[in-house]
Amino acid sequence: ARTALERSQKLEAVGKLTGGVAHDFNNILHIISANVQLMMRNEESSRKRLLNIMDAVERGKKLTAQLLAFARRQPLHPSVVNPAQLIDRMDSLLHRAAGDAIEIRFELPATPWNTLVDPNQLENVLLNLVINARDAMNNQGHITIAIENVTIAPDSELGETGVKPNDYVKIAVTDTGSGMPPEVMERAFEPFFTTKPEGKGTGLGLSMAHGFVKQSGGHIRLASRPDEGTTVSIYLPRAQQETPDPLYIPTPH
Ligand code: ADP
Repeated sequence: ARTALERSQKLEAVGKLTGGVAHDFNNILHIISANVQLMMRNEESSRKRLLNIMDAVERGKKLTAQLLAFARRQPLHPSVVNPAQLIDRMDSLLHRAAGDAIEIRFELPATPWNTLVDPNQLENVLLNLVINARDAMNNQGHITIAIENVTIAPDSELGETGVKPNDYVKIAVTDTGSGMPPEVMERAFEPFFTTKPEGKGTGLGLSMAHGFVKQSGGHIRLASRPDEGTTVSIYLPRAQQETPDPLYIPTPH
């Protein structure tokens, strides 16, 4: 049974969450209404106003989609996924997200293990990690996406940091960006915690990644040094099945 403290902590979290969304959404609606009012006054500048409106609508859509994904946390549709295949399929999407100035390097084992996860969710998580990396990078440097087959033995060092002994597919996204000061690192997984300028960050990317990884039976770890960069590592349990399931039909991005 939940204790009173747990209940009140949960209520507090929900309150914070609702407040954050209401605030962001109010700003978006404000942009829309201000632009419509200006259009009604002055037809000349309609095109620019419409672009502002569309931009705000896109932000609103992104916010509600992330919120729904966060609130739902269910259902996942796991299948046996080969991570190298999935990343290969995301190639152009990832490059578009990173932008032309940032190089993406891939490090893959000869025979990566399979993992049992929801491929659409894994795709969302990886895209979010690459966007976070880009946002920390000021349009220079490189992002490395490394896949590794990892066995955590019961007496291994990683076991001590809370990664349960098991076979995992590890996917690590490393950037050469700004890194995180300790006080940001401590709060990075909190829903709606963001250091990004208003309208840019929702503060849901890492908390969603955390939720997805936990639900998939895995672990997520952050390593970061200010001015050097950040590595986000996710450990997904190895699937026993040798042949991956056919890849899903990609969602349009
Ligand atoms: P958002 O990206 O919308 O801010 P996230 O939950 O994905 O939300 O990230 C929360 C915060 O963690 C970011 O605002 C940023 O301060 C920090 N952060 C996340 N990824 C990185 C990274 N790769 N490098 C530096 N800081 C990061």
